[in-house]
Amino acid sequence: MERPAGPAGRRRTFAIISHPDAGKTTLTEKLLLFGGAIQLAGAVRGKRDRATRSDWMNIERERGISVVTSVMTFEVDGTVFNLLDTPGHEDFSEDTYRTLTAVDSAVMVIDAAKGIEARTRKLFEVCRLRDIPILTFINKMDRESREPFELLDEIEKTLALDTAAMTWPIGRGRDFVGTYDIARRQVRLIDSSGEAVKVSGPDDPAIDGMAKPGAVAAFREEIELVEGVAKPFELDGFLEGHLTPVYFGSALRNFGVRDLIDALDAFAPSPRPQAAEGRTVEPTEDKMSGFVFKIQANMDPNHRDRIAFLRVCSGRLERGMKAKLVRTGKPIPLNAPQFFFAQDRHIADEAFAGDVVGIPNHGTLRIGDTLTDGEDLVFRGVPSFAPEILRRVRLGDAMKAKKLKEALQQMAEEGVVQIFTPHDGSPALVGVVGALQLDVLKERLKAEYGLPVDFEPARFTVARWVTSDDPVKFEEFVERHRSQMASDLDGAPVFLAPSAFELRYDLDRWPQITASDIKDYQ
Ligand code: GDP
Repeated sequence: MERPAGPAGRRRTFAIISHPDAGKTTLTEKLLLFGGAIQLAGAVRGKRDRATRSDWMNIERERGISVVTSVMTFEVDGTVFNLLDTPGHEDFSEDTYRTLTAVDSAVMVIDAAKGIEARTRKLFEVCRLRDIPILTFINKMDRESREPFELLDEIEKTLALDTAAMTWPIGRGRDFVGTYDIARRQVRLIDSSGEAVKVSGPDDPAIDGMAKPGAVAAFREEIELVEGVAKPFELDGFLEGHLTPVYFGSALRNFGVRDLIDALDAFAPSPRPQAAEGRTVEPTEDKMSGFVFKIQANMDPNHRDRIAFLRVCSGRLERGMKAKLVRTGKPIPLNAPQFFFAQDRHIADEAFAGDVVGIPNHGTLRIGDTLTDGEDLVFRGVPSFAPEILRRVRLGDAMKAKKLKEALQQMAEEGVVQIFTPHDGSPALVGVVGALQLDVLKERLKAEYGLPVDFEPARFTVARWVTSDDPVKFEEFVERHRSQMASDLDGAPVFLAPSAFELRYDLDRWPQITASDIKDYQ
Protein backbone atom coordinates (compact mmCIF):
# COMPACT_ATOMS: atom_id res chain seq x y z
CA MET A 1 0.00 0.00 0.00
CA GLU A 2 1.22 3.48 -0.74
CA ARG A 3 1.58 5.57 2.34
CA PRO A 4 2.60 9.19 2.79
CA ALA A 5 6.27 9.68 3.49
CA GLY A 6 7.36 10.75 6.96
CA PRO A 7 5.62 10.50 10.33
CA ALA A 8 2.05 10.58 8.93
CA GLY A 9 2.65 7.36 7.02
CA ARG A 10 3.66 5.61 10.22
CA ARG A 11 0.43 6.48 12.05
CA ARG A 12 -2.63 4.25 12.44
CA THR A 13 -5.43 5.98 14.30
CA PHE A 14 -8.31 3.66 15.17
CA ALA A 15 -11.12 2.88 17.60
CA ILE A 16 -12.65 -0.34 18.85
CA ILE A 17 -16.37 -0.75 18.33
CA SER A 18 -18.29 -3.42 20.19
CA HIS A 19 -21.26 -4.26 22.35
CA PRO A 20 -20.64 -4.07 26.12
CA ASP A 21 -18.99 -7.24 27.42
CA ALA A 22 -17.63 -8.40 24.08
CA GLY A 23 -14.10 -7.82 25.35
CA LYS A 24 -13.11 -4.29 24.33
CA THR A 25 -11.37 -3.50 27.60
CA THR A 26 -9.52 -6.80 27.67
CA LEU A 27 -8.37 -6.41 24.09
CA THR A 28 -7.30 -2.81 24.69
CA GLU A 29 -5.21 -3.92 27.61
CA LYS A 30 -3.56 -6.64 25.54
CA LEU A 31 -2.83 -4.26 22.70
CA LEU A 32 -1.17 -1.87 25.13
CA LEU A 33 0.83 -4.61 26.78
CA PHE A 34 1.92 -5.74 23.40
CA GLY A 35 2.98 -2.24 22.43
CA GLY A 36 4.82 -1.77 25.70
CA ALA A 37 6.26 -5.24 25.85
CA ILE A 38 7.81 -4.97 22.44
CA GLN A 39 9.91 -2.05 23.61
CA LEU A 40 11.27 -3.98 26.55
CA ALA A 41 13.95 -6.62 26.30
CA GLY A 42 12.10 -9.90 26.02
CA ALA A 43 13.46 -11.72 29.07
CA VAL A 44 11.43 -10.22 31.88
CA ARG A 45 8.36 -9.72 29.87
CA GLY A 46 5.87 -11.43 32.19
CA LYS A 47 6.85 -9.38 35.18
CA ARG A 48 7.05 -6.10 33.34
CA ASP A 49 3.65 -6.72 31.81
CA ARG A 50 2.06 -6.84 35.20
CA ALA A 51 3.79 -3.67 36.27
CA THR A 52 2.60 -1.86 33.18
CA ARG A 53 -0.96 -2.83 33.79
CA SER A 54 -1.14 -1.83 37.42
CA ASP A 55 0.51 1.51 36.62
CA TRP A 56 -2.32 2.22 34.32
CA MET A 57 -4.92 1.40 36.86
CA ASN A 58 -3.30 3.61 39.44
CA ILE A 59 -3.23 6.56 37.16
CA GLU A 60 -6.86 6.07 36.34
CA ARG A 61 -7.75 5.85 39.98
CA GLU A 62 -5.75 8.89 40.94
CA ARG A 63 -7.34 11.04 38.34
CA GLY A 64 -10.74 9.49 38.88
CA ILE A 65 -11.48 10.01 35.23
CA SER A 66 -10.52 8.36 32.06
CA VAL A 67 -8.55 11.15 30.45
CA VAL A 68 -5.72 8.71 30.10
CA THR A 69 -7.78 6.13 28.35
CA SER A 70 -9.41 8.58 25.97
CA VAL A 71 -6.42 8.08 23.74
CA MET A 72 -3.75 5.44 24.02
CA THR A 73 -0.64 5.53 21.94
CA PHE A 74 1.71 2.63 21.51
CA GLU A 75 4.45 1.82 19.09
CA VAL A 76 5.28 -1.50 17.48
CA ASP A 77 8.20 -1.90 15.08
CA GLY A 78 8.23 1.79 14.20
CA THR A 79 4.49 2.10 13.61
CA VAL A 80 2.64 4.44 15.94
CA PHE A 81 -0.84 3.25 16.90
CA ASN A 82 -3.32 5.75 18.33
CA LEU A 83 -6.25 3.94 19.89
CA LEU A 84 -9.15 6.26 20.69
CA ASP A 85 -11.55 5.02 23.30
CA THR A 86 -15.25 5.16 22.66
CA PRO A 87 -17.17 5.71 25.91
CA GLY A 88 -17.89 2.42 27.61
CA HIS A 89 -21.39 2.88 28.98
CA GLU A 90 -24.33 1.27 27.32
CA ASP A 91 -26.13 4.46 26.59
CA PHE A 92 -25.44 6.07 23.33
CA SER A 93 -24.02 9.55 23.39
CA GLU A 94 -22.73 12.06 20.95
CA ASP A 95 -19.25 11.54 22.33
CA THR A 96 -19.14 8.17 20.70
CA TYR A 97 -20.09 9.53 17.32
CA ARG A 98 -17.59 12.32 17.58
CA THR A 99 -14.75 9.99 18.51
CA LEU A 100 -15.42 8.10 15.32
CA THR A 101 -14.91 11.31 13.36
CA ALA A 102 -11.31 11.34 14.55
CA VAL A 103 -10.24 7.83 13.50
CA ASP A 104 -9.14 6.38 10.18
CA SER A 105 -10.18 2.78 10.85
CA ALA A 106 -11.96 0.65 13.43
CA VAL A 107 -11.69 -2.80 14.95
CA MET A 108 -15.06 -4.47 15.44
CA VAL A 109 -14.94 -6.90 18.36
CA ILE A 110 -17.59 -9.61 18.32
CA ASP A 111 -18.33 -12.11 21.07
CA ALA A 112 -18.08 -15.49 19.34
CA ALA A 113 -21.02 -16.83 21.32
CA LYS A 114 -23.27 -13.88 20.57
CA GLY A 115 -22.49 -12.56 17.11
CA ILE A 116 -23.57 -9.08 16.05
CA GLU A 117 -25.28 -7.25 18.90
CA ALA A 118 -27.33 -4.07 18.93
CA ARG A 119 -24.68 -1.58 19.84
CA THR A 120 -22.11 -3.02 17.48
CA ARG A 121 -24.55 -2.57 14.66
CA LYS A 122 -25.26 1.01 15.60
CA LEU A 123 -21.59 1.91 15.82
CA PHE A 124 -20.96 0.08 12.58
CA GLU A 125 -23.56 2.26 10.89
CA VAL A 126 -21.72 5.37 12.00
CA CYS A 127 -18.49 3.94 10.57
CA ARG A 128 -20.22 3.17 7.32
CA LEU A 129 -21.56 6.72 7.03
CA ARG A 130 -17.99 7.92 7.23
CA ASP A 131 -16.51 5.14 5.06
CA ILE A 132 -14.29 3.96 7.88
CA PRO A 133 -12.68 0.60 7.06
CA ILE A 134 -13.35 -2.12 9.62
CA LEU A 135 -11.24 -5.05 10.80
CA THR A 136 -13.12 -7.78 12.65
CA PHE A 137 -11.89 -9.63 15.73
CA ILE A 138 -14.05 -12.56 16.77
CA ASN A 139 -13.30 -12.84 20.46
CA LYS A 140 -13.73 -15.47 23.19
CA MET A 141 -12.85 -18.38 20.95
CA ASP A 142 -11.58 -20.17 24.05
CA ARG A 143 -15.20 -20.61 25.12
CA GLU A 144 -18.22 -22.25 23.60
CA SER A 145 -18.88 -20.29 20.45
CA ARG A 146 -21.18 -20.23 17.49
CA GLU A 147 -19.94 -21.79 14.28
CA PRO A 148 -17.50 -19.53 12.40
CA PHE A 149 -19.37 -19.86 9.11
CA GLU A 150 -22.56 -18.81 10.84
CA LEU A 151 -20.82 -15.77 12.33
CA LEU A 152 -19.38 -14.72 8.97
CA ASP A 153 -22.78 -15.17 7.42
CA GLU A 154 -24.36 -12.99 10.07
CA ILE A 155 -21.85 -10.20 9.47
CA GLU A 156 -22.55 -10.35 5.74
CA LYS A 157 -26.30 -10.40 6.14
CA THR A 158 -26.94 -7.99 8.98
CA LEU A 159 -24.26 -5.45 8.08
CA ALA A 160 -24.18 -5.95 4.32
CA LEU A 161 -20.44 -6.24 4.59
CA ASP A 162 -18.32 -8.82 2.76
CA THR A 163 -16.04 -10.89 4.97
CA ALA A 164 -12.65 -12.38 4.25
CA ALA A 165 -11.46 -14.89 6.85
CA MET A 166 -7.75 -14.29 7.40
CA THR A 167 -7.31 -16.92 10.10
CA TRP A 168 -9.40 -19.97 10.93
CA PRO A 169 -9.90 -21.62 14.32
CA ILE A 170 -8.71 -25.15 14.97
CA GLY A 171 -11.04 -26.79 17.50
CA ARG A 172 -13.84 -25.16 19.47
CA GLY A 173 -14.45 -24.18 23.04
CA ARG A 174 -12.25 -26.17 25.38
CA ASP A 175 -10.66 -27.92 22.40
CA PHE A 176 -9.72 -24.67 20.72
CA VAL A 177 -5.96 -24.90 20.21
CA GLY A 178 -5.18 -22.01 17.92
CA THR A 179 -5.64 -20.59 14.44
CA TYR A 180 -4.41 -21.28 10.97
CA ASP A 181 -3.27 -18.25 8.97
CA ILE A 182 -4.71 -18.81 5.52
CA ALA A 183 -2.41 -16.60 3.42
CA ARG A 184 0.78 -17.24 5.33
CA ARG A 185 0.18 -20.97 5.87
CA GLN A 186 1.13 -21.03 9.47
CA VAL A 187 -0.40 -22.11 12.74
CA ARG A 188 -0.35 -20.14 15.93
CA LEU A 189 -1.10 -22.14 19.07
CA ILE A 190 -2.79 -20.65 22.09
CA ASP A 191 -0.50 -22.38 24.56
CA SER A 192 2.77 -21.29 23.06
CA SER A 193 5.09 -18.34 23.22
CA GLY A 194 3.17 -16.79 20.38
CA GLU A 195 5.55 -17.87 17.65
CA ALA A 196 3.83 -19.17 14.55
CA VAL A 197 4.63 -22.62 13.14
CA LYS A 198 5.11 -22.73 9.37
CA VAL A 199 3.23 -25.53 7.65
CA SER A 200 2.95 -26.63 4.04
CA GLY A 201 -0.85 -26.18 4.15
CA PRO A 202 -3.91 -27.40 6.02
CA ASP A 203 -3.01 -31.02 5.25
CA ASP A 204 0.44 -30.80 6.81
CA PRO A 205 0.83 -33.81 9.14
CA ALA A 206 2.33 -31.49 11.75
CA ILE A 207 -1.20 -30.19 12.41
CA ASP A 208 -2.32 -33.70 13.42
CA GLY A 209 -0.26 -33.51 16.52
CA MET A 210 -1.67 -30.16 17.55
CA ALA A 211 -5.32 -30.94 18.29
CA LYS A 212 -7.76 -33.80 18.82
CA PRO A 213 -8.27 -35.89 15.66
CA GLY A 214 -11.90 -34.86 15.35
CA ALA A 215 -11.01 -31.19 15.60
CA VAL A 216 -8.29 -31.51 12.97
CA ALA A 217 -10.59 -33.35 10.58
CA ALA A 218 -13.30 -30.72 11.01
CA PHE A 219 -10.76 -27.95 10.51
CA ARG A 220 -9.55 -29.50 7.22
CA GLU A 221 -13.06 -29.78 5.91
CA GLU A 222 -13.85 -26.19 6.80
CA ILE A 223 -10.67 -24.75 5.42
CA GLU A 224 -11.34 -26.48 2.12
CA LEU A 225 -14.63 -24.66 1.99
CA VAL A 226 -13.05 -21.36 3.02
CA GLU A 227 -10.30 -21.62 0.42
CA GLY A 228 -12.74 -22.85 -2.18
CA VAL A 229 -15.71 -20.55 -1.91
CA ALA A 230 -14.96 -17.68 0.42
CA LYS A 231 -13.96 -14.29 -0.87
CA PRO A 232 -10.27 -13.54 -0.79
CA PHE A 233 -9.09 -10.43 1.01
CA GLU A 234 -9.01 -7.47 -1.27
CA LEU A 235 -7.38 -4.25 -0.08
CA ASP A 236 -9.45 -1.78 -2.09
CA GLY A 237 -12.70 -3.36 -0.93
CA PHE A 238 -11.50 -3.03 2.66
CA LEU A 239 -10.38 0.58 2.29
CA GLU A 240 -13.71 1.50 0.70
CA GLY A 241 -15.54 -0.13 3.58
CA HIS A 242 -17.17 -3.00 1.62
CA LEU A 243 -15.12 -5.85 3.02
CA THR A 244 -13.77 -6.75 6.43
CA PRO A 245 -10.85 -9.06 7.14
CA VAL A 246 -11.78 -11.41 9.99
CA TYR A 247 -9.47 -12.70 12.72
CA PHE A 248 -10.32 -15.22 15.43
CA GLY A 249 -8.84 -14.98 18.89
CA SER A 250 -9.17 -14.67 22.62
CA ALA A 251 -8.34 -11.36 24.20
CA LEU A 252 -8.38 -12.90 27.66
CA ARG A 253 -5.79 -15.48 26.67
CA ASN A 254 -3.84 -12.83 24.75
CA PHE A 255 -4.33 -14.77 21.57
CA GLY A 256 -4.79 -13.34 18.09
CA VAL A 257 -3.66 -9.90 19.23
CA ARG A 258 -0.47 -10.06 17.18
CA ASP A 259 -2.53 -10.90 14.07
CA LEU A 260 -4.60 -7.81 14.68
CA ILE A 261 -1.60 -5.54 15.16
CA ASP A 262 0.03 -6.92 12.01
CA ALA A 263 -3.19 -6.33 10.10
CA LEU A 264 -3.55 -2.75 11.35
CA ASP A 265 0.05 -2.15 10.40
CA ALA A 266 -0.27 -3.65 6.94
CA PHE A 267 -3.79 -2.68 5.84
CA ALA A 268 -5.28 0.04 8.00
CA PRO A 269 -5.12 3.45 6.38
CA SER A 270 -2.67 6.10 7.48
CA PRO A 271 -4.15 9.51 8.30
CA ARG A 272 -6.56 10.37 5.56
CA PRO A 273 -7.01 13.74 3.85
CA GLN A 274 -9.58 15.76 5.80
CA ALA A 275 -12.35 17.80 4.27
CA ALA A 276 -12.39 21.45 5.27
CA GLU A 277 -14.58 24.21 3.93
CA GLY A 278 -13.23 25.15 0.53
CA ARG A 279 -10.45 22.59 0.33
CA THR A 280 -9.14 19.23 1.44
CA VAL A 281 -6.18 19.12 3.79
CA GLU A 282 -3.51 16.51 3.06
CA PRO A 283 -1.78 14.88 6.04
CA THR A 284 1.60 15.60 4.45
CA GLU A 285 1.13 19.37 4.35
CA ASP A 286 3.78 21.26 6.33
CA LYS A 287 1.44 23.56 8.19
CA MET A 288 -0.19 22.28 11.36
CA SER A 289 -3.97 21.89 11.45
CA GLY A 290 -6.39 19.92 13.57
CA PHE A 291 -9.87 19.84 15.06
CA VAL A 292 -11.30 19.36 18.54
CA PHE A 293 -13.56 16.31 18.70
CA LYS A 294 -13.91 15.83 22.41
CA ILE A 295 -13.77 17.83 25.62
CA GLN A 296 -13.17 16.27 28.97
CA ALA A 297 -13.89 18.30 32.05
CA ASN A 298 -11.72 18.05 35.08
CA MET A 299 -13.74 16.49 37.84
CA ASP A 300 -12.21 18.77 40.44
CA PRO A 301 -15.06 21.16 41.20
CA ASN A 302 -12.69 23.95 42.20
CA HIS A 303 -11.08 24.11 38.83
CA ARG A 304 -12.88 24.73 35.65
CA ASP A 305 -10.13 23.05 33.70
CA ARG A 306 -10.93 21.15 30.61
CA ILE A 307 -8.90 19.07 28.27
CA ALA A 308 -9.73 19.48 24.61
CA PHE A 309 -8.75 16.56 22.43
CA LEU A 310 -7.32 17.72 19.15
CA ARG A 311 -6.91 15.38 16.23
CA VAL A 312 -3.93 16.62 14.25
CA CYS A 313 -4.74 16.56 10.52
CA SER A 314 -1.53 17.91 9.00
CA GLY A 315 1.91 19.25 9.77
CA ARG A 316 3.75 19.14 13.03
CA LEU A 317 2.36 20.30 16.35
CA GLU A 318 5.12 21.49 18.59
CA ARG A 319 5.02 22.23 22.26
CA GLY A 320 5.17 25.97 22.84
CA MET A 321 3.81 26.94 19.47
CA LYS A 322 1.01 29.47 19.09
CA ALA A 323 -1.88 28.08 17.13
CA LYS A 324 -4.73 30.08 15.68
CA LEU A 325 -8.20 29.32 16.95
CA VAL A 326 -10.10 29.95 13.75
CA ARG A 327 -13.53 30.51 15.33
CA THR A 328 -12.30 33.59 17.21
CA GLY A 329 -9.23 34.43 15.15
CA LYS A 330 -7.23 34.58 18.38
CA PRO A 331 -3.92 32.86 19.02
CA ILE A 332 -3.83 30.07 21.56
CA PRO A 333 -0.49 29.08 23.02
CA LEU A 334 0.11 25.36 23.20
CA ASN A 335 2.32 25.45 26.25
CA ALA A 336 1.39 22.15 27.77
CA PRO A 337 -0.09 19.87 25.18
CA GLN A 338 -0.45 16.40 26.60
CA PHE A 339 0.51 13.25 24.83
CA PHE A 340 -0.55 9.88 26.01
CA PHE A 341 1.92 7.07 25.58
CA ALA A 342 1.09 3.64 26.83
CA GLN A 343 4.75 2.81 27.18
CA ASP A 344 6.04 5.38 29.56
CA ARG A 345 3.60 8.28 29.38
CA HIS A 346 6.27 10.87 28.85
CA ILE A 347 5.22 14.26 27.58
CA ALA A 348 6.39 14.41 24.01
CA ASP A 349 7.32 17.64 22.32
CA GLU A 350 5.71 17.11 18.98
CA ALA A 351 2.80 15.42 17.28
CA PHE A 352 1.94 14.68 13.67
CA ALA A 353 -1.05 14.01 11.46
CA GLY A 354 -3.08 11.19 12.97
CA ASP A 355 -2.00 11.95 16.55
CA VAL A 356 -4.31 13.15 19.26
CA VAL A 357 -3.17 15.77 21.72
CA GLY A 358 -4.85 16.93 24.90
CA ILE A 359 -4.91 20.71 25.32
CA PRO A 360 -5.67 21.99 28.83
CA ASN A 361 -7.80 25.15 28.75
CA HIS A 362 -10.37 27.06 30.77
CA GLY A 363 -13.20 27.02 28.31
CA THR A 364 -11.55 28.67 25.32
CA LEU A 365 -11.89 25.59 23.16
CA ARG A 366 -15.14 24.08 22.00
CA ILE A 367 -16.08 20.92 20.21
CA GLY A 368 -15.60 21.30 16.48
CA ASP A 369 -13.00 24.06 16.80
CA THR A 370 -10.24 24.16 14.22
CA LEU A 371 -6.67 25.07 15.19
CA THR A 372 -4.13 26.00 12.52
CA ASP A 373 -0.75 27.52 11.91
CA GLY A 374 -2.53 30.68 10.76
CA GLU A 375 -4.76 29.67 7.89
CA ASP A 376 -8.50 30.38 8.17
CA LEU A 377 -9.49 26.80 7.78
CA VAL A 378 -12.62 25.14 9.10
CA PHE A 379 -12.83 21.37 9.23
CA ARG A 380 -16.18 19.87 8.51
CA GLY A 381 -17.70 16.81 9.94
CA VAL A 382 -17.71 16.89 13.71
CA PRO A 383 -21.44 16.55 13.84
CA SER A 384 -24.15 17.53 16.24
CA PHE A 385 -27.21 15.31 16.30
CA ALA A 386 -30.74 16.48 16.83
CA PRO A 387 -31.69 15.59 20.39
CA GLU A 388 -34.03 12.70 21.01
CA ILE A 389 -35.04 14.16 24.35
CA LEU A 390 -35.93 17.80 25.10
CA ARG A 391 -36.39 19.03 28.66
CA ARG A 392 -36.92 22.15 30.66
CA VAL A 393 -34.57 22.60 33.57
CA ARG A 394 -36.32 23.36 36.84
CA LEU A 395 -34.23 25.13 39.41
CA GLY A 396 -35.15 25.09 43.11
CA ASP A 397 -33.62 28.47 43.80
CA ALA A 398 -34.76 31.11 41.32
CA MET A 399 -31.97 33.45 42.48
CA LYS A 400 -29.51 31.20 40.74
CA ALA A 401 -30.98 31.50 37.26
CA LYS A 402 -28.00 33.43 35.95
CA LYS A 403 -25.57 30.88 37.32
CA LEU A 404 -27.59 28.12 35.71
CA LYS A 405 -27.44 29.89 32.40
CA GLU A 406 -23.67 30.09 32.59
CA ALA A 407 -23.37 26.48 33.67
CA LEU A 408 -25.55 25.26 30.83
CA GLN A 409 -23.54 27.29 28.38
CA GLN A 410 -20.37 25.62 29.59
CA MET A 411 -21.90 22.17 29.51
CA ALA A 412 -23.06 22.81 25.97
CA GLU A 413 -19.58 23.91 24.91
CA GLU A 414 -18.25 20.67 26.31
CA GLY A 415 -20.84 18.73 24.36
CA VAL A 416 -22.58 17.34 27.45
CA VAL A 417 -25.92 18.77 26.32
CA GLN A 418 -27.29 21.05 23.66
CA ILE A 419 -29.12 24.21 24.60
CA PHE A 420 -31.88 25.85 22.63
CA THR A 421 -32.85 29.40 23.44
CA PRO A 422 -36.40 30.16 22.28
CA HIS A 423 -36.85 33.42 20.35
CA ASP A 424 -39.95 34.30 22.35
CA GLY A 425 -37.96 34.71 25.53
CA SER A 426 -39.15 31.57 27.32
CA PRO A 427 -36.55 29.62 29.30
CA ALA A 428 -33.92 27.61 27.43
CA LEU A 429 -34.48 23.94 26.69
CA VAL A 430 -31.82 21.30 27.00
CA GLY A 431 -31.54 18.52 24.47
CA VAL A 432 -29.74 15.19 24.71
CA VAL A 433 -29.33 12.21 22.43
CA GLY A 434 -29.35 9.56 25.17
CA ALA A 435 -31.08 9.59 28.57
CA LEU A 436 -27.80 9.00 30.40
CA GLN A 437 -26.65 12.44 29.30
CA LEU A 438 -29.42 13.93 31.47
CA ASP A 439 -28.12 12.06 34.52
CA VAL A 440 -24.61 13.29 33.81
CA LEU A 441 -25.88 16.85 33.44
CA LYS A 442 -27.83 16.70 36.68
CA GLU A 443 -24.93 15.25 38.59
CA ARG A 444 -22.44 17.74 37.28
CA LEU A 445 -24.66 20.77 37.83
CA LYS A 446 -24.94 19.72 41.44
CA ALA A 447 -21.35 18.71 42.07
CA GLU A 448 -19.54 21.39 40.12
CA TYR A 449 -21.89 24.35 40.27
CA GLY A 450 -23.92 23.67 43.42
CA LEU A 451 -27.10 23.73 41.38
CA PRO A 452 -29.61 21.02 42.25
CA VAL A 453 -32.01 20.76 39.31
CA ASP A 454 -34.86 18.66 38.01
CA PHE A 455 -36.07 18.16 34.51
CA GLU A 456 -39.59 18.48 33.25
CA PRO A 457 -41.11 17.69 29.89
CA ALA A 458 -41.05 20.53 27.43
CA ARG A 459 -43.87 21.63 25.15
CA PHE A 460 -41.73 20.38 22.28
CA THR A 461 -40.26 16.97 21.61
CA VAL A 462 -38.57 17.48 18.26
CA ALA A 463 -35.84 19.91 17.20
CA ARG A 464 -34.44 20.40 13.70
CA TRP A 465 -31.92 22.80 12.27
CA VAL A 466 -33.55 24.79 9.50
CA THR A 467 -32.04 26.54 6.51
CA SER A 468 -33.22 27.81 3.15
CA ASP A 469 -31.80 29.04 -0.13
CA ASP A 470 -34.59 31.60 -0.20
CA PRO A 471 -33.91 34.26 2.46
CA VAL A 472 -37.30 35.91 2.02
CA LYS A 473 -39.20 32.69 2.53
CA PHE A 474 -36.96 31.81 5.42
CA GLU A 475 -37.71 35.12 7.08
CA GLU A 476 -41.39 34.50 6.56
CA PHE A 477 -41.15 31.00 8.02
CA VAL A 478 -39.36 32.32 11.09
CA GLU A 479 -41.93 35.10 11.52
CA ARG A 480 -44.86 32.73 11.23
CA HIS A 481 -43.37 30.30 13.71
CA ARG A 482 -41.99 32.74 16.19
CA SER A 483 -43.11 30.73 19.20
CA GLN A 484 -41.46 27.62 17.77
CA MET A 485 -38.08 29.08 16.83
CA ALA A 486 -34.95 28.85 18.94
CA SER A 487 -31.20 29.35 18.57
CA ASP A 488 -28.58 26.76 19.37
CA LEU A 489 -25.24 27.46 21.05
CA ASP A 490 -23.81 28.96 17.88
CA GLY A 491 -26.92 30.99 17.12
CA ALA A 492 -28.08 28.67 14.34
CA PRO A 493 -31.87 28.64 13.86
CA VAL A 494 -33.71 25.62 15.20
CA PHE A 495 -37.35 24.74 14.62
CA LEU A 496 -39.16 23.09 17.55
CA ALA A 497 -42.27 20.96 17.16
CA PRO A 498 -44.57 19.24 19.66
CA SER A 499 -44.34 15.95 17.75
CA ALA A 500 -42.80 14.36 14.69
CA PHE A 501 -46.21 14.44 13.06
CA GLU A 502 -46.60 18.16 13.52
CA LEU A 503 -43.07 18.73 12.31
CA ARG A 504 -43.83 16.94 9.07
CA TYR A 505 -47.19 18.63 8.71
CA ASP A 506 -45.64 22.06 8.99
CA LEU A 507 -42.62 21.40 6.80
CA ASP A 508 -44.74 19.87 4.04
CA ARG A 509 -46.28 23.30 3.68
CA TRP A 510 -42.89 25.00 3.39
CA PRO A 511 -40.99 23.23 0.62
CA GLN A 512 -38.39 26.02 0.54
CA ILE A 513 -37.26 25.17 4.06
CA THR A 514 -34.72 22.41 4.63
CA ALA A 515 -34.82 20.73 8.04
CA SER A 516 -31.92 18.60 9.20
CA ASP A 517 -31.33 16.33 12.16
CA ILE A 518 -27.56 16.57 11.82
CA LYS A 519 -25.54 19.72 11.99
CA ASP A 520 -21.83 20.07 11.40
CA TYR A 521 -20.17 22.12 14.08
CA GLN A 522 -18.95 25.36 12.59
P1 GDP B 1 -16.06 -4.79 27.44
O1 GDP B 1 -17.33 -4.49 28.17
O2 GDP B 1 -16.30 -5.00 25.98
O3 GDP B 1 -14.96 -3.83 27.71
O4 GDP B 1 -15.62 -6.26 27.92
P2 GDP B 1 -14.48 -6.71 28.92
O5 GDP B 1 -13.14 -6.65 28.29
O6 GDP B 1 -14.65 -6.04 30.23
O7 GDP B 1 -14.84 -8.26 29.04
C1 GDP B 1 -16.09 -8.70 29.54
C2 GDP B 1 -15.92 -10.05 30.19
O8 GDP B 1 -15.52 -11.02 29.23
C3 GDP B 1 -14.83 -10.04 31.26
O9 GDP B 1 -15.24 -10.89 32.30
C4 GDP B 1 -13.64 -10.63 30.53
O10 GDP B 1 -12.75 -11.29 31.39
C5 GDP B 1 -14.30 -11.63 29.60
N1 GDP B 1 -13.51 -11.87 28.39
C6 GDP B 1 -12.95 -10.94 27.57
N2 GDP B 1 -12.29 -11.55 26.56
C7 GDP B 1 -12.43 -12.87 26.75
C8 GDP B 1 -11.96 -14.03 26.05
O11 GDP B 1 -11.27 -13.96 25.04
N3 GDP B 1 -12.32 -15.23 26.55
C9 GDP B 1 -13.08 -15.37 27.67
N4 GDP B 1 -13.36 -16.59 28.10
N5 GDP B 1 -13.52 -14.32 28.37
C10 GDP B 1 -13.21 -13.08 27.91
